[in-house]
Amino acid sequence: MRLFVTGGAGFIGSNFIRYVLREHPDWEVTNYDLLTYAASPETVRDLEGHSRYRFIKGDICDAGLLRDVLPGHDALVNFAAESHVDRSIDGAAVFVRTNLVGTHTLLEVAREVRVERFIHISTDEVYGSRAEGKFREEDPLAPSSPYAATKAGADLLARSYFITYGFPVLITRSSNNFGPWQHPEKLIPLFVTNLLEGKRVPLYGDGLNVRDWLFVEDNCAAIDLVLREGKDGEVYNIAAGNELTNLELTRRILGLLGAGEEMIERVPDRPGHDRRYAIDATRVRELGWEPRYTLDEALELTVGWYRENRWWWGPLKERMELPAWLRSAGRREKP
Ligand code: NAD
Repeated sequence: MRLFVTGGAGFIGSNFIRYVLREHPDWEVTNYDLLTYAASPETVRDLEGHSRYRFIKGDICDAGLLRDVLPGHDALVNFAAESHVDRSIDGAAVFVRTNLVGTHTLLEVAREVRVERFIHISTDEVYGSRAEGKFREEDPLAPSSPYAATKAGADLLARSYFITYGFPVLITRSSNNFGPWQHPEKLIPLFVTNLLEGKRVPLYGDGLNVRDWLFVEDNCAAIDLVLREGKDGEVYNIAAGNELTNLELTRRILGLLGAGEEMIERVPDRPGHDRRYAIDATRVRELGWEPRYTLDEALELTVGWYRENRWWWGPLKERMELPAWLRSAGRREKP
Protein backbone atom coordinates (compact mmCIF):
# COMPACT_ATOMS: atom_id res chain seq x y z
CA MET A 1 0.00 0.00 0.00
CA ARG A 2 1.25 3.48 -0.88
CA LEU A 3 -0.58 5.84 1.42
CA PHE A 4 -0.88 9.61 1.07
CA VAL A 5 -1.64 11.25 4.42
CA THR A 6 -2.53 14.94 4.61
CA GLY A 7 -2.06 16.81 7.90
CA GLY A 8 0.34 14.14 9.10
CA ALA A 9 2.40 16.58 11.15
CA GLY A 10 -0.62 17.36 13.34
CA PHE A 11 -1.94 15.48 16.33
CA ILE A 12 -4.02 12.60 14.98
CA GLY A 13 -2.22 12.41 11.62
CA SER A 14 1.22 11.95 13.22
CA ASN A 15 -0.11 9.28 15.58
CA PHE A 16 -1.75 7.57 12.59
CA ILE A 17 1.48 7.56 10.55
CA ARG A 18 3.41 6.02 13.44
CA TYR A 19 0.59 3.48 13.86
CA VAL A 20 0.55 2.31 10.21
CA LEU A 21 4.35 2.22 9.86
CA ARG A 22 4.42 -0.05 12.93
CA GLU A 23 1.40 -2.22 12.06
CA HIS A 24 2.01 -2.62 8.31
CA PRO A 25 5.68 -3.36 7.63
CA ASP A 26 5.19 -3.19 3.84
CA TRP A 27 3.25 0.09 3.67
CA GLU A 28 4.82 3.33 2.45
CA VAL A 29 3.57 6.66 3.71
CA THR A 30 3.81 10.15 2.22
CA ASN A 31 3.06 12.89 4.72
CA TYR A 32 1.75 16.04 2.99
CA ASP A 33 1.41 18.93 5.44
CA LEU A 34 1.58 22.72 5.25
CA LEU A 35 3.13 22.96 8.75
CA THR A 36 0.76 25.64 9.99
CA TYR A 37 0.91 27.00 13.57
CA ALA A 38 -0.82 23.73 14.62
CA ALA A 39 2.11 21.56 13.57
CA SER A 40 5.60 21.45 14.93
CA PRO A 41 8.25 19.99 12.63
CA GLU A 42 9.52 18.31 15.82
CA THR A 43 6.39 16.13 15.87
CA VAL A 44 7.64 14.05 12.95
CA ARG A 45 11.40 14.68 13.34
CA ASP A 46 12.03 11.10 14.51
CA LEU A 47 10.48 9.74 11.29
CA GLU A 48 13.05 11.48 9.09
CA GLY A 49 15.28 8.84 7.53
CA HIS A 50 12.64 6.10 7.92
CA SER A 51 12.89 4.08 4.69
CA ARG A 52 9.09 3.92 4.15
CA TYR A 53 8.32 7.54 5.06
CA ARG A 54 8.50 10.72 3.03
CA PHE A 55 7.55 14.28 3.96
CA ILE A 56 6.30 16.91 1.50
CA LYS A 57 5.53 20.43 2.62
CA GLY A 58 2.38 21.42 0.76
CA ASP A 59 -1.06 22.96 0.91
CA ILE A 60 -4.20 20.89 0.28
CA CYS A 61 -5.53 23.88 -1.70
CA ASP A 62 -2.58 23.61 -4.14
CA ALA A 63 -3.97 21.51 -7.01
CA GLY A 64 -0.78 21.94 -9.09
CA LEU A 65 1.52 20.46 -6.45
CA LEU A 66 -0.99 17.70 -5.69
CA ARG A 67 -1.09 16.75 -9.38
CA ASP A 68 2.70 16.32 -9.21
CA VAL A 69 2.96 14.34 -6.00
CA LEU A 70 -0.27 12.35 -5.60
CA PRO A 71 -0.07 9.96 -8.62
CA GLY A 72 1.20 6.52 -7.67
CA HIS A 73 -0.56 6.42 -4.30
CA ASP A 74 -3.25 3.81 -3.64
CA ALA A 75 -5.15 5.61 -0.90
CA LEU A 76 -5.45 9.03 0.69
CA VAL A 77 -6.36 9.85 4.29
CA ASN A 78 -7.30 13.49 4.78
CA PHE A 79 -6.55 14.76 8.28
CA ALA A 80 -5.48 18.25 7.18
CA ALA A 81 -7.76 20.90 8.64
CA GLU A 82 -8.04 23.95 10.79
CA SER A 83 -9.19 22.15 13.92
CA HIS A 84 -9.61 24.54 16.85
CA VAL A 85 -13.19 25.67 17.57
CA ASP A 86 -12.07 28.73 19.57
CA ARG A 87 -10.00 30.00 16.65
CA SER A 88 -12.95 29.57 14.28
CA ILE A 89 -14.97 31.87 16.54
CA ASP A 90 -12.25 34.53 16.22
CA GLY A 91 -12.10 34.21 12.42
CA ALA A 92 -13.56 31.56 10.14
CA ALA A 93 -11.96 32.51 6.79
CA VAL A 94 -9.01 30.14 7.07
CA PHE A 95 -11.41 27.37 8.14
CA VAL A 96 -13.48 27.88 5.00
CA ARG A 97 -10.34 27.86 2.88
CA THR A 98 -8.65 24.78 4.32
CA ASN A 99 -11.60 22.65 5.39
CA LEU A 100 -13.87 23.34 2.42
CA VAL A 101 -11.72 24.51 -0.50
CA GLY A 102 -8.89 22.20 0.58
CA THR A 103 -11.10 19.11 0.81
CA HIS A 104 -12.67 19.95 -2.56
CA THR A 105 -9.23 20.34 -4.16
CA LEU A 106 -8.11 17.00 -2.76
CA LEU A 107 -11.28 15.25 -3.96
CA GLU A 108 -10.85 16.70 -7.45
CA VAL A 109 -7.18 15.78 -7.86
CA ALA A 110 -7.59 12.35 -6.21
CA ARG A 111 -10.43 11.52 -8.60
CA GLU A 112 -8.43 12.80 -11.56
CA VAL A 113 -5.38 10.64 -10.76
CA ARG A 114 -7.58 7.67 -9.77
CA VAL A 115 -6.69 7.17 -6.13
CA GLU A 116 -8.48 3.95 -5.14
CA ARG A 117 -9.67 4.96 -1.66
CA PHE A 118 -10.26 8.35 -0.06
CA ILE A 119 -10.77 8.44 3.70
CA HIS A 120 -12.07 11.78 4.88
CA ILE A 121 -11.55 12.44 8.60
CA SER A 122 -14.47 14.23 10.15
CA THR A 123 -15.87 14.84 13.63
CA ASP A 124 -18.91 14.20 15.85
CA GLU A 125 -19.29 18.00 16.00
CA VAL A 126 -21.01 17.96 12.59
CA TYR A 127 -24.17 16.53 14.20
CA GLY A 128 -24.43 19.33 16.76
CA SER A 129 -25.58 18.97 20.35
CA ARG A 130 -28.17 16.61 21.81
CA ALA A 131 -29.46 16.19 25.35
CA GLU A 132 -30.22 12.47 25.23
CA GLY A 133 -29.56 9.47 23.00
CA LYS A 134 -26.87 9.20 20.33
CA PHE A 135 -26.48 10.25 16.71
CA ARG A 136 -26.35 7.58 14.02
CA GLU A 137 -24.48 8.11 10.76
CA GLU A 138 -27.67 8.90 8.79
CA ASP A 139 -28.85 11.67 11.12
CA PRO A 140 -28.96 15.18 9.69
CA LEU A 141 -26.00 17.47 10.28
CA ALA A 142 -26.59 20.55 12.43
CA PRO A 143 -23.20 22.07 13.28
CA SER A 144 -23.00 24.97 15.75
CA SER A 145 -19.50 26.48 15.42
CA PRO A 146 -17.88 27.84 12.25
CA TYR A 147 -15.33 25.01 12.63
CA ALA A 148 -18.03 22.33 12.71
CA ALA A 149 -19.93 24.01 9.86
CA THR A 150 -16.88 23.81 7.56
CA LYS A 151 -16.33 20.18 8.57
CA ALA A 152 -19.99 19.41 7.81
CA GLY A 153 -19.66 21.09 4.41
CA ALA A 154 -16.56 19.04 3.65
CA ASP A 155 -18.41 15.83 4.64
CA LEU A 156 -21.23 16.65 2.26
CA LEU A 157 -18.83 17.42 -0.57
CA ALA A 158 -17.01 14.13 0.06
CA ARG A 159 -20.34 12.26 0.08
CA SER A 160 -21.38 13.95 -3.17
CA TYR A 161 -18.24 12.65 -4.90
CA PHE A 162 -19.31 9.11 -4.06
CA ILE A 163 -22.92 9.62 -5.13
CA THR A 164 -22.21 11.69 -8.26
CA TYR A 165 -19.01 10.12 -9.57
CA GLY A 166 -18.85 6.78 -7.74
CA PHE A 167 -15.53 7.95 -6.32
CA PRO A 168 -14.63 5.62 -3.40
CA VAL A 169 -14.92 8.01 -0.46
CA LEU A 170 -15.34 6.87 3.15
CA ILE A 171 -15.86 9.19 6.11
CA THR A 172 -14.99 8.74 9.78
CA ARG A 173 -16.57 10.94 12.45
CA SER A 174 -14.87 10.55 15.78
CA SER A 175 -15.50 12.05 19.17
CA ASN A 176 -12.91 14.21 21.03
CA ASN A 177 -9.44 12.68 20.83
CA PHE A 178 -6.62 13.02 23.33
CA GLY A 179 -3.10 11.61 23.67
CA PRO A 180 0.55 12.38 22.87
CA TRP A 181 1.45 15.14 20.39
CA GLN A 182 -1.77 17.14 20.83
CA HIS A 183 -1.29 20.90 20.64
CA PRO A 184 -1.41 22.51 24.11
CA GLU A 185 -4.26 24.80 23.00
CA LYS A 186 -6.69 21.85 23.31
CA LEU A 187 -8.44 21.06 26.60
CA ILE A 188 -6.61 18.01 27.99
CA PRO A 189 -3.04 19.10 27.08
CA LEU A 190 -3.80 22.67 28.17
CA PHE A 191 -4.97 21.52 31.58
CA VAL A 192 -2.15 18.98 32.04
CA THR A 193 0.60 21.41 30.98
CA ASN A 194 -0.86 24.27 33.05
CA LEU A 195 -0.75 22.07 36.14
CA LEU A 196 2.80 20.95 35.30
CA GLU A 197 3.70 24.66 35.18
CA GLY A 198 1.93 25.35 38.48
CA LYS A 199 -0.85 27.36 36.78
CA ARG A 200 -4.61 27.10 37.19
CA VAL A 201 -6.87 25.47 34.59
CA PRO A 202 -9.51 27.61 32.82
CA LEU A 203 -12.88 25.83 32.90
CA TYR A 204 -15.50 27.26 30.54
CA GLY A 205 -18.96 28.20 31.92
CA ASP A 206 -20.56 25.81 34.41
CA GLY A 207 -18.26 22.94 33.35
CA LEU A 208 -21.23 20.68 32.60
CA ASN A 209 -20.68 20.28 28.85
CA VAL A 210 -20.39 16.59 28.02
CA ARG A 211 -17.81 15.06 25.69
CA ASP A 212 -17.08 11.41 24.86
CA TRP A 213 -13.28 11.01 25.10
CA LEU A 214 -11.35 8.77 22.71
CA PHE A 215 -7.67 7.83 23.04
CA VAL A 216 -5.91 8.75 19.80
CA GLU A 217 -4.34 5.28 19.45
CA ASP A 218 -7.81 3.71 19.46
CA ASN A 219 -8.97 6.18 16.80
CA CYS A 220 -5.93 5.31 14.66
CA ALA A 221 -6.81 1.60 14.87
CA ALA A 222 -10.39 2.38 13.80
CA ILE A 223 -9.28 4.54 10.85
CA ASP A 224 -6.84 1.83 9.75
CA LEU A 225 -9.68 -0.73 9.85
CA VAL A 226 -12.04 1.54 7.90
CA LEU A 227 -9.28 2.12 5.34
CA ARG A 228 -8.77 -1.61 4.82
CA GLU A 229 -12.27 -3.00 5.30
CA GLY A 230 -14.80 -0.19 5.21
CA LYS A 231 -17.49 0.04 2.55
CA ASP A 232 -17.22 2.70 -0.16
CA GLY A 233 -19.54 5.65 0.42
CA GLU A 234 -20.09 4.75 4.08
CA VAL A 235 -19.77 6.96 7.16
CA TYR A 236 -18.36 5.49 10.40
CA ASN A 237 -18.84 7.08 13.81
CA ILE A 238 -15.94 6.35 16.18
CA ALA A 239 -16.36 6.68 19.93
CA ALA A 240 -15.36 4.67 22.97
CA GLY A 241 -18.30 5.48 25.25
CA ASN A 242 -16.36 7.63 27.75
CA GLU A 243 -18.88 10.41 28.38
CA LEU A 244 -17.83 12.92 31.03
CA THR A 245 -18.70 16.49 31.89
CA ASN A 246 -15.76 18.85 31.56
CA LEU A 247 -15.85 19.24 35.34
CA GLU A 248 -15.59 15.47 35.89
CA LEU A 249 -12.73 15.29 33.40
CA THR A 250 -10.97 18.20 35.10
CA ARG A 251 -11.24 16.45 38.47
CA ARG A 252 -9.61 13.31 37.02
CA ILE A 253 -6.76 15.38 35.62
CA LEU A 254 -6.30 17.23 38.91
CA GLY A 255 -6.21 13.84 40.67
CA LEU A 256 -3.53 12.47 38.32
CA LEU A 257 -1.36 15.53 38.94
CA GLY A 258 -1.97 15.67 42.70
CA ALA A 259 -3.70 19.07 42.49
CA GLY A 260 -6.82 20.29 44.33
CA GLU A 261 -9.99 22.06 43.17
CA GLU A 262 -8.47 25.45 44.02
CA MET A 263 -6.53 25.03 40.76
CA ILE A 264 -9.77 25.43 38.75
CA GLU A 265 -10.37 28.92 37.39
CA ARG A 266 -13.92 29.53 36.14
CA VAL A 267 -13.90 31.55 32.91
CA PRO A 268 -16.72 32.81 30.62
CA ASP A 269 -18.28 30.18 28.39
CA ARG A 270 -17.37 29.71 24.74
CA PRO A 271 -20.06 31.35 22.54
CA GLY A 272 -22.34 28.71 21.00
CA HIS A 273 -20.79 26.01 23.22
CA ASP A 274 -22.52 22.70 22.41
CA ARG A 275 -23.85 21.04 25.55
CA ARG A 276 -23.32 17.41 24.66
CA TYR A 277 -21.89 15.36 21.81
CA ALA A 278 -22.89 11.71 21.59
CA ILE A 279 -22.51 9.28 18.70
CA ASP A 280 -23.42 5.64 18.25
CA ALA A 281 -20.38 3.63 17.09
CA THR A 282 -22.18 0.33 16.37
CA ARG A 283 -21.19 0.35 12.69
CA VAL A 284 -17.43 0.50 13.26
CA ARG A 285 -17.75 -2.02 16.09
CA GLU A 286 -19.49 -4.39 13.64
CA LEU A 287 -16.46 -4.01 11.38
CA GLY A 288 -14.42 -5.47 14.27
CA TRP A 289 -13.15 -2.41 16.15
CA GLU A 290 -13.16 -1.92 19.88
CA PRO A 291 -11.13 0.44 22.05
CA ARG A 292 -8.08 -1.17 23.67
CA TYR A 293 -7.52 1.41 26.40
CA THR A 294 -9.74 2.39 29.30
CA LEU A 295 -10.15 6.10 29.87
CA ASP A 296 -8.08 5.97 33.06
CA GLU A 297 -5.22 4.06 31.41
CA ALA A 298 -5.18 6.46 28.47
CA LEU A 299 -5.29 9.57 30.68
CA GLU A 300 -2.41 8.25 32.75
CA LEU A 301 -0.36 7.52 29.62
CA THR A 302 -1.13 10.99 28.30
CA VAL A 303 -0.19 12.80 31.52
CA GLY A 304 3.05 10.77 31.61
CA TRP A 305 3.84 11.78 28.03
CA TYR A 306 3.35 15.52 28.72
CA ARG A 307 5.46 15.21 31.88
CA GLU A 308 8.34 13.84 29.82
CA ASN A 309 8.02 15.97 26.70
CA ARG A 310 8.09 19.59 27.84
CA TRP A 311 10.73 20.22 25.13
CA TRP A 312 7.95 19.63 22.59
CA TRP A 313 4.98 21.51 24.08
CA GLY A 314 6.90 24.32 25.82
CA PRO A 315 7.73 26.30 22.64
CA LEU A 316 4.21 25.78 21.20
CA LYS A 317 2.68 27.12 24.39
CA GLU A 318 4.93 30.20 24.36
CA ARG A 319 3.32 31.24 21.06
CA MET A 320 -0.31 30.64 22.11
CA GLU A 321 -2.89 33.40 22.41
CA LEU A 322 -6.17 33.50 24.30
CA PRO A 323 -9.40 33.53 22.25
CA ALA A 324 -10.88 37.02 21.76
CA TRP A 325 -13.95 36.56 24.00
CA LEU A 326 -11.72 35.63 26.95
CA ARG A 327 -9.44 38.60 26.27
CA SER A 328 -12.42 40.96 26.17
CA ALA A 329 -13.73 39.39 29.38
CA GLY A 330 -10.60 40.77 31.04
CA ARG A 331 -8.50 37.64 31.22
CA ARG A 332 -5.36 39.05 29.66
CA GLU A 333 -2.63 36.78 30.93
CA LYS A 334 -1.78 33.61 29.01
CA PRO A 335 -3.56 30.50 30.33
P1 NAD B 1 -4.27 19.39 14.15
O1 NAD B 1 -4.68 20.81 14.16
O2 NAD B 1 -3.40 18.88 15.25
O3 NAD B 1 -3.53 19.05 12.79
C1 NAD B 1 -3.93 19.56 11.56
C2 NAD B 1 -2.77 19.42 10.60
O4 NAD B 1 -3.20 19.87 9.32
C3 NAD B 1 -1.54 20.25 10.99
O5 NAD B 1 -0.38 19.47 10.90
C4 NAD B 1 -1.53 21.37 9.95
O6 NAD B 1 -0.22 21.83 9.65
C5 NAD B 1 -2.17 20.69 8.77
N1 NAD B 1 -2.79 21.63 7.83
C6 NAD B 1 -3.60 22.68 8.15
N2 NAD B 1 -3.95 23.34 7.02
C7 NAD B 1 -3.35 22.68 5.98
C8 NAD B 1 -3.35 22.87 4.58
N3 NAD B 1 -4.02 23.89 4.01
N4 NAD B 1 -2.66 22.01 3.82
C9 NAD B 1 -1.97 20.98 4.38
N5 NAD B 1 -1.91 20.76 5.70
C10 NAD B 1 -2.61 21.60 6.50
O7 NAD B 1 -5.63 18.56 14.08
P2 NAD B 1 -6.01 17.13 14.67
O8 NAD B 1 -6.54 17.33 16.04
O9 NAD B 1 -4.89 16.18 14.44
O10 NAD B 1 -7.23 16.77 13.74
C11 NAD B 1 -7.02 16.06 12.51
C12 NAD B 1 -8.35 15.86 11.82
O11 NAD B 1 -9.24 15.13 12.68
C13 NAD B 1 -9.07 17.17 11.49
O12 NAD B 1 -9.68 17.02 10.24
C14 NAD B 1 -10.11 17.30 12.59
O13 NAD B 1 -11.23 18.03 12.13
C15 NAD B 1 -10.44 15.86 12.85
N6 NAD B 1 -10.92 15.54 14.21
C16 NAD B 1 -10.18 15.90 15.30
C17 NAD B 1 -10.62 15.56 16.57
C18 NAD B 1 -9.82 15.91 17.81
O14 NAD B 1 -10.33 15.69 18.93
N7 NAD B 1 -8.60 16.40 17.70
C19 NAD B 1 -11.83 14.87 16.73
C20 NAD B 1 -12.55 14.52 15.59
C21 NAD B 1 -12.08 14.84 14.34
